[in-house]
Amino acid sequence: MAENCTHDCSTCSANCGERTEPQDLRAPANAGSRVKKVIAVVSGKGGVGKSTVTAGLAVAMARRGKKVGVLDADITGPSIPKAFGLHGPLTGDDKGMVPAETRTGIKVVSVNLLTENETDPVIWRGPVIAGLVTQFWSDTVWGDVDYLFVDMPPGTGDVPLTVFQSLPVDGIVVVTSPQELVGMIVAKAVNMAKLMNIPILGLVENYSWFECPDCGKRHAIYGESRLDDVALELGLPVLARLPIDPTLAKACDGGRVEEVAQNYLEEVAQRLNQE
Ligand code: ADP
Repeated sequence: MAENCTHDCSTCSANCGERTEPQDLRAPANAGSRVKKVIAVVSGKGGVGKSTVTAGLAVAMARRGKKVGVLDADITGPSIPKAFGLHGPLTGDDKGMVPAETRTGIKVVSVNLLTENETDPVIWRGPVIAGLVTQFWSDTVWGDVDYLFVDMPPGTGDVPLTVFQSLPVDGIVVVTSPQELVGMIVAKAVNMAKLMNIPILGLVENYSWFECPDCGKRHAIYGESRLDDVALELGLPVLARLPIDPTLAKACDGGRVEEVAQNYLEEVAQRLNQE
């Protein structure tokens, strides 16, 4: 038996050949946090609209009267503060970091609210970035939150791995695009979550079509979607399909995501409500 054995395998960190159960790597929540559900939003690659969907889900749940938070874990490509028109710096006290609040009361923590200039790049190696995400969970005074959405970095690297191990993720929403489905990059993200026993709520396809404002015809700009086939192959439900909508891009890029009238994610919100 290892010298520093605590006789409780779930908490013991000793490197020991007699381990009977895996070590629980969960990071503790802040004493001032009462978070009911943690929902991670993931994608296989960048640019598919993961942050747009995260922001949209947060808005949809807030519109339902829920208390909502967004933990921006996409440390090298943070887009959440921009979508909500938020600027730093975050404040804190001896109890921890205090999230920024959007116009409708959504709490947000992001590295872009910590850096001096919003264009400063984060040039850190994976383990440091992963450590910061854990701090966003443990060192933030989230208060009462019904749904905490985690905007994950794309792919299956260090940071998603840490989030899945350290945060009590209740479910994930997988965002994909018709292009990505062709390459099955999304399957890697899905399989990672499956291997880590994280419940997958389903797939959201973005950029599914573009509706011509003149003739009303729908065009599959990125090719015909294989979403239904892929969902079947992966054994997952389709939660939503979003069109290419220039007004959505304009609102997100202009910090006004809370003002978007069209709610493409209403069905997902309804489903989350039942979770
Ligand atoms: P990711 O988080 O996957 O990197 P983002 O959500 O930041 O991607 O989206 C990338 C860009 O595409 C943003 O400028 C965003 O406003 C735009 N965008 C995302 N979804 C849509 C959509 N359905 N219609 C139009 N523009 C979109």
